[in-house]
Amino acid sequence: MLKAFRMLRYYPGYTLVGAIILVLTIYGNYILISRSGWWAIASIVISVLVWVFFLTSIHPQARLQGRLITNIPPSWTQNSKPSAYLTFDDGPNLIYTSQVLRILSDFGVRATFFPIGINIERAPEMIAEMERERHTIGNHSYDHQTFIFRSRNFIEMEIRRTEEAIIKAGGKKPTLFRFPHGFKSFRAIQIIKEMGYKIISWNIMPGDWLGLMSDEIVDYIIKDTKDGDIILLHDGHDTRPDPDRTQTVKALPHIIEGLLDRGFSLKCLGEVLNGRENE
Ligand SMILES: [Zn+2]
Repeated sequence: MLKAFRMLRYYPGYTLVGAIILVLTIYGNYILISRSGWWAIASIVISVLVWVFFLTSIHPQARLQGRLITNIPPSWTQNSKPSAYLTFDDGPNLIYTSQVLRILSDFGVRATFFPIGINIERAPEMIAEMERERHTIGNHSYDHQTFIFRSRNFIEMEIRRTEEAIIKAGGKKPTLFRFPHGFKSFRAIQIIKEMGYKIISWNIMPGDWLGLMSDEIVDYIIKDTKDGDIILLHDGHDTRPDPDRTQTVKALPHIIEGLLDRGFSLKCLGEVLNGRENE
């Protein structure tokens, strides 16, 4: 329950949407239940459906609307050591992505990046560098708008334009997709899977976009990470050309050291997901 409340601060926008839906459902039910009979039943059913849709859309571990990967079950890897998977969203940019890549290289660790198409066009050399260092590169949409209530054409265009940007920058065609803001729907999941993608979510979210200090980010990750967990960090901020990821970059060496000290091996998702066709 505490964790559910902690979720609210990660999504101020969605919390507001949730509050509006709450007021509307209470008010709507109050009006309709007073008429009794079928109106009352219909209003309760509709309210429940709206809430189920809303909560399973925003919660990063909710799989009710479609299968997605939130962590890597230890049985998928033949490792004696526990594994963890660092992922970086919303890049690339020359300042922070280059520092992240340098730190990963210093530790000899591979990670997974979910860059945004429009950001790739501003810093394509970062994609070439990720490819050289054998990190996994996924697709995080072209301009980071939510995919909910969108046409098939919109979704396909967002994915294709990002694929083109990655390939043009020297990367391979991606096979992993992460929803912008993590906001998903049954229909969007289906369309993206038809395009040959696996959908990747996460289960460790320190919230490095919330103005946390580096030691808070480090503590959260070191304390909470278990075997197979996918950790969400950011090397950019939405489509902003001038993000500030100073604290994430400052935290990164300590995160890596801390996890290695705890006996984890850090891997990129491509390593374990290639060859698993049914996820
Ligand atoms: Zn993002």
